[in-house]
Amino acid sequence: MKNIIFIAPPAAGKGTQSKLLVSNIGYEHISTGDILREEIALGSDLGVLAKSIIDDGNLVPDDIMIDIIKKKFDSIKGKPFILDGFPRTINQAYALSNILDDNFITVYMYLDKEVAKKRIVGRLSCLTCGKSYNEFDEKLMPKVNGICDVCGSSLVKRADDNEASFEVRYNSYIEKTEPIIDYYDKMGVLVKIDANNDRTNIYNSIIECINRQEVR
Ligand code: AMP
Repeated sequence: MKNIIFIAPPAAGKGTQSKLLVSNIGYEHISTGDILREEIALGSDLGVLAKSIIDDGNLVPDDIMIDIIKKKFDSIKGKPFILDGFPRTINQAYALSNILDDNFITVYMYLDKEVAKKRIVGRLSCLTCGKSYNEFDEKLMPKVNGICDVCGSSLVKRADDNEASFEVRYNSYIEKTEPIIDYYDKMGVLVKIDANNDRTNIYNSIIECINRQEVR
């Protein structure tokens, strides 16, 4: 089973797709955004540092993120994994190449900026089970306003899911993360998925790509 690295702009649905793949296929889910949000909730030194950076839409420094990812790899002990949110810079990609063998594919989920903005500004998340909703999209609204359909917890808006923070995150994605697409393309491990589609179509496209890569 090949490991999966997601590269995507904000709101492409990498978190949602990761959770589906984890429950249907059984990967370990490594979400650097979730790891940082857990540190914020704990009030650790890392959490305090990360909070203002994340809320403003900026990136946490590479050395901190590389350290986090190394510790996480140690803890999953060689199980197949999905990397959701790392690497986000070319230096993180180089560091990852020093840690990983070549048993992975990189799934690049492309998305129009306007679609991304609408998804971000309307996004509501369940902090208990991780399901996400959109208050502006009829198909993705919760059945009861503000309550998770799956576990009944209250839904929250992430502090960085606002228009100002979105602009910073999107620009940072274009400037710092997009160059790594070329890096993985040249390595011959890149597959491209249209993330403007709905969740089910995106999922089916990812599964097709995984199956195609597994038989190579
Ligand atoms: P995400 O949940 O993947 O959207 O990540 C939320 C935020 O956490 C990002 O906007 C960044 O501020 C920070 N973050 C997550 N992963 C990384 C990373 N690999 N490098 C730097 N910052 C990160």
